[in-house]
Amino acid sequence: MYSTWEELENACRSCTKCGLCEGRTNVVVGMGNPQAKVMFVGEGPGEQEDLQGKPFVGRSGQLLDKMLDAVDLDRNRNIYIGNIVKCRPPKNRDPLPEEQEMCIDWLRDQFLLIRPKIIVCLGRIAAMKLIRPDFHIMKEHGQFFEKGGVLMMATLHPAALLRNPNNKPSAFEDFLKLRAKMDELGIE
Ligand code: SF4
Repeated sequence: MYSTWEELENACRSCTKCGLCEGRTNVVVGMGNPQAKVMFVGEGPGEQEDLQGKPFVGRSGQLLDKMLDAVDLDRNRNIYIGNIVKCRPPKNRDPLPEEQEMCIDWLRDQFLLIRPKIIVCLGRIAAMKLIRPDFHIMKEHGQFFEKGGVLMMATLHPAALLRNPNNKPSAFEDFLKLRAKMDELGIE
């Protein structure tokens, strides 16, 4: 456990705990407001994220930002965005279970510093790791689950929405439910 955000980020940036360190340009620790009450978690960095060292900055990130904006959320103001693994898997493959297991301590340390009230999993991989191993993203997205005093919800990954734009309205409903839950809890 780290007592400051700076200590955590510095340690994470020099991590070599799994093989993903070999192909990375940057460790993508995360970005946003470390005091945010809502945290978004994706599965891992893609090409642009690896190059820029920031999460969700490619086309899927642009879509994510639009959906966030529609419910008055902004990664520079009232949310924090991180990933299950902090280094890019080769050719954007899914992070392997052992890579996720090696990296999850960084996310736990981020949770301990941020102490979010709501965690939103972006896509199947994050939901299976954080909510339940048999989580069914198409059936269960948009539902809230309570775990250890934190509300958790999953929505469809923005990259999946770019591949299947027909699912965008259904994913947007998840964002509306998130906003309603934040309002109910008095979170701005
Ligand atoms: S993916 Fe995570 S555990 Fe693996 S080297 Fe990167 S920071 Fe370390």
